[in-house]
Amino acid sequence: MKKRTIPDLSKKLAAPLNAIASPQRIAILLAIGTGEACVCHLETALGWRQAYISQHLMALRKADILQDRREGRYIYYRLKNASYLELILDSATLSGLSSESVSAVINTQIYPACECPHCAPALISVESLKAA
Ligand SMILES: [Zn+2]
Repeated sequence: MKKRTIPDLSKKLAAPLNAIASPQRIAILLAIGTGEACVCHLETALGWRQAYISQHLMALRKADILQDRREGRYIYYRLKNASYLELILDSATLSGLSSESVSAVINTQIYPACECPHCAPALISVESLKAA
C-alpha cells in the first residue's frame, strides 16, 4: 500500500471535523446524544424552527454522521458513531469547559410534550402510575 502523504491524510482528517464544525450541528449532536430523537424533540430541546433544524439534519446525514429511521409519520435520528460525542467532549476541554458540564446536557432532558423514544417512555410511565 502506498504511504499517504501528510496533505493527503490531513484532507481526510479534516472531513469529520468540518462536518460538525458549527454551534448548531454540535447542539443537534448533543441533543440526540447516545439515543435517538425526532425533529420535534430537537425543536423543544433547542428552541429552533423545524426548517432550520431539518437543514442541519440533512447536512449531518449527508456527511454520514447521522442515520435516520422512519416509524409511521416520525423520523428518528441517531449518531452513526458515538466517537463524535467524544470529539465534542475533547473540544470542551480545549475550549476551557469541563467535560462534565457538557456531558451533563447530552440528551438528558425529557419533554412531556415530545413523542420521541427518549421522551415517550416517560409519558408511558406517568400514565401507568395514574392507572396503578
Ligand atoms: Zn423527545
